[in-house]
Amino acid sequence: MGQKTKYIFVTGGVTSSLGKGIISASLAKLLQGRGYSVTIQKLDPYINIDPGTLNPYEHGECFVTNDGAETDLDLGHYERFLNIATSQANNITTGRIYQQVINKERRGDYLGKTVQVIPHITDEIKESIQVLGKEHDYDIVITEIGGTVGDIESLPYVEAVRQLKWEMGDNCLVVHLTLVPFLAAAGELKTKPTQHSVKALLELGVQPEILVCRTEHELTLDLRQKIAKFCNVDPDAVIESIDAETIYDVPLLMQNEELDKVVLHKLKLEEEGEPNLDKWKAFLERHKNPKSTIKIGLIGKYIELKDSYKSIVEAFIHAGAENEVSVELEWIHSEAVSEENVHEKLKDLKGVLVAPGFGERGIEGKIAAIKYVRENGIPFFGICLGMQCAVIEFGRNVLGLADAHTAEIDPDSPNCVIDIMEEQKELTEKGGTMRLGAYKCEIAENTKAFDIYGQSLIEERHRHRFEFNGKYQQAYEEAGMIASGINPNNGLVEIVEIPNHPWFVGVQFHPEYKSTVANPHPLFIQFIKAATKVGATLEKA
Ligand code: GLN
Repeated sequence: MGQKTKYIFVTGGVTSSLGKGIISASLAKLLQGRGYSVTIQKLDPYINIDPGTLNPYEHGECFVTNDGAETDLDLGHYERFLNIATSQANNITTGRIYQQVINKERRGDYLGKTVQVIPHITDEIKESIQVLGKEHDYDIVITEIGGTVGDIESLPYVEAVRQLKWEMGDNCLVVHLTLVPFLAAAGELKTKPTQHSVKALLELGVQPEILVCRTEHELTLDLRQKIAKFCNVDPDAVIESIDAETIYDVPLLMQNEELDKVVLHKLKLEEEGEPNLDKWKAFLERHKNPKSTIKIGLIGKYIELKDSYKSIVEAFIHAGAENEVSVELEWIHSEAVSEENVHEKLKDLKGVLVAPGFGERGIEGKIAAIKYVRENGIPFFGICLGMQCAVIEFGRNVLGLADAHTAEIDPDSPNCVIDIMEEQKELTEKGGTMRLGAYKCEIAENTKAFDIYGQSLIEERHRHRFEFNGKYQQAYEEAGMIASGINPNNGLVEIVEIPNHPWFVGVQFHPEYKSTVANPHPLFIQFIKAATKVGATLEKA
């Protein structure tokens, strides 16, 4: 049987944080622009089953797929670049691989054999890599191997790649990403770390076909030839990846370097012509030439690590481009906001987003900020915990329920306006047990939500255990906060809004996960539009 799907492995050497995710997504974008169906998968060498149980400070945002996988934030980049949804199969961790192997061992599937890293763990890895090609029929699967070559924990992955290269021949190739540092004292770019990191791969039996060299300065022809000679690659397969102004430039930079052509040539696929990136370029044009700048406050408790809010930041970039404005985010620590200083902190902002989150820390700051924007007509966008805080604030300050709270923080409050969901009550396991993934939401006509989405049935992704307490819905609606989006199957309130406010919308789901370059999210677009308008009126007044 001929093999249809081609596999590209992306490994990293020298140091972490070289941007393997962006290089993988950029290559995928170029191949997609040539008409291939492409997906990207991330293999993470840590032992957590998924990043859902990780504190954002450890690993940045946890991204959520339609089918409810809690994943690495690189999957967000894949979706934003390719505009196609990822799934459970797109993110595999060592924990999951071992869990599957151990389950099989307990079932007796190995028929009395000794279960070992090779072949059992490596076979499981190989199977997880090939699932996307076999079951989903992609032309090309790009598999990004997390971590850095030479790490103990990534050894089984590199071994799986070695075996697949042997089995698949021309149907697969390895792109190795390295760093070519500039030594100021010597005034030179240095190739030795790249040579060493390729040597580390070679010791494991893997010869990369393509080297993508991250650098702060141009790679001269001489340097390219030197790297090619020492690392057994063709000179045209030494690709320069120079620091970019924005991640959205990287596909074009890679196109200039002809990364896509080299890849196609080596995979024996048609390499003529150029990818169609018209829409992408139009976005970049708008992104880089904004007509004005607006300041939006992002209030959260993990702001020391901006990656904790990756998808929100990118959704603002997409929505800003759509509105031809540059969204300047003012990062505000929720613990630093109080009733006393809220005016000082928020007075110059054209809109405020209160971020998702868990636990008590910073919650009163979020509530103080919401009170201020509600009373002062500043556009407000609450996501998940941000929406829940808006409900608490309204309960306390408009309905007069001084003890209004969420059961997450004060389960004994007589007014848990945010309560634990029924199906969550009995759960004791933390991993993968939240309400996760895409759910339908029905939007009421003549509401802001309906204007924004322009349709009555939507689907958005969730990640939470608590929800608006339906017992209070009538009282809220009578006092001016309406439930404009409801889950049609179980009646859960998914969107709240205040009609008598320029723009006040809270959503229980995470719209940021669905914003892509090709499809900026309507909630973000309209929030920015409202912020631009309100700003203009305030300035005139
Ligand atoms: N902690 C809240 C809940 O579990 C909100 C979660 C979130 O913001 N993602 O319901």
